[in-house]
Amino acid sequence: MQDTIDTQASFDVSNTGFYGRFGGAFIPEMLYPNVEELRQNYLSIIGDSSFQAEFWQLLEDYVGRPTPLFLAKRLSAQKGATIYLKREDLCHTGAHKINNTIGQILVAQRLGKKRIVAETGAGQHGVATATVCALMGLECIVYMGSIDMERQKPNVDRMRMLGATVVPAKSGSQTLKDATNEAMRHWINNPVDTHYIIGSVVGPHPYPDMVARFQSVISQEIRQQLLTKTGRENPDYVVACVGGGSNAAGAFYHFLHEPSVRLVAAEAAGMGVTSGHSAATTALGKPGVLHGSRTILMQTEDGQVTEPYSISAGLDYPGIGPLHAHLFDSGRGDFYAITDEEALAAGFNLSKQEGIIPALETSHALASLDKMSLNADDVVVICLSGRGDKDLSTYSKHL
Ligand SMILES: *Cc1c(COP(=O)(O)O)cnc(C)c1O
Repeated sequence: MQDTIDTQASFDVSNTGFYGRFGGAFIPEMLYPNVEELRQNYLSIIGDSSFQAEFWQLLEDYVGRPTPLFLAKRLSAQKGATIYLKREDLCHTGAHKINNTIGQILVAQRLGKKRIVAETGAGQHGVATATVCALMGLECIVYMGSIDMERQKPNVDRMRMLGATVVPAKSGSQTLKDATNEAMRHWINNPVDTHYIIGSVVGPHPYPDMVARFQSVISQEIRQQLLTKTGRENPDYVVACVGGGSNAAGAFYHFLHEPSVRLVAAEAAGMGVTSGHSAATTALGKPGVLHGSRTILMQTEDGQVTEPYSISAGLDYPGIGPLHAHLFDSGRGDFYAITDEEALAAGFNLSKQEGIIPALETSHALASLDKMSLNADDVVVICLSGRGDKDLSTYSKHL
């Protein structure tokens, strides 16, 4: 890994799906026809004017975009810089994930698919997927580890109320990894009529690029809103939490090739980077293949994926998307590892300072403000990826 910034690096995906030395499509042969159909068609579908019209109309009328860019005055005074919050917590269903599921269901329809399969860990991506399936009248099957189903009962109830079939994954550790395997198997067995909606910028090419494009509405809006409010398009910093990396990819997208904008990513250090209970991928990980792409992941000496841990379900993932692996590797992004305790404190602080209860994932992004050396004239945009209602029981244990 380098510690100098590679100013020549491109952060656009290559036509084989690589960001620098990360990405690609490392998939079993059985999955090839499905992924290849998507790869051959996604750019022309997304580029089509009827797709664009429907996508933007739904973002506006259904999701509630554009989301506000809010000047957080009390937080700014406290941290000694000008801090704006990009309010993805105000999206329908309470987080940024719906930007992607809207885009993918429109792609699925144009590929003639009748059913949607997805995997979910804590249930947030499952809910966002079940929501758009209800909207479009498509059958929805969500695989979820049976242990996760017990831990996240309200989200299971939401998905069922939205008409989805939630299938318990009973193999292995009965969590996200096993749900992913079973959803993949389902897709292999139903290649013709089913589309698989992945929830972050992970998986084989073209998923990371496709998901980043759908989430890039976040940075597109930030630029316009910042220009209106401050007379400049570019902030000094954009800050986001990284689980797989989709809200970060969306918030960074239109700034990737603006070297004056520092890109700051917050990962979950759990109980501490070296505690053995962490999801701080760039701090602990090494290059390898995870879920179909070459990236950085937490693994043992002999290459077994390490079980991650974070207080926030959305950051509890042993890898990061290939774009972020490249941002880290090239020095373009600054990565901070935030502990559970630091995140909780930042979540309580935002609630009291601004009257906004953030998702625990988002609290990691907020906590990284204290690790940055900010100047009084710096303009900082934080991606407020989701609202905190779902995390109330965890917060309340620490009140
Ligand atoms: C799922 C989730 C995340 C993590 O996913 P990314 O793909 O890294 O964005 C972050 N924040 C919230 C609120 C989430 O629901």
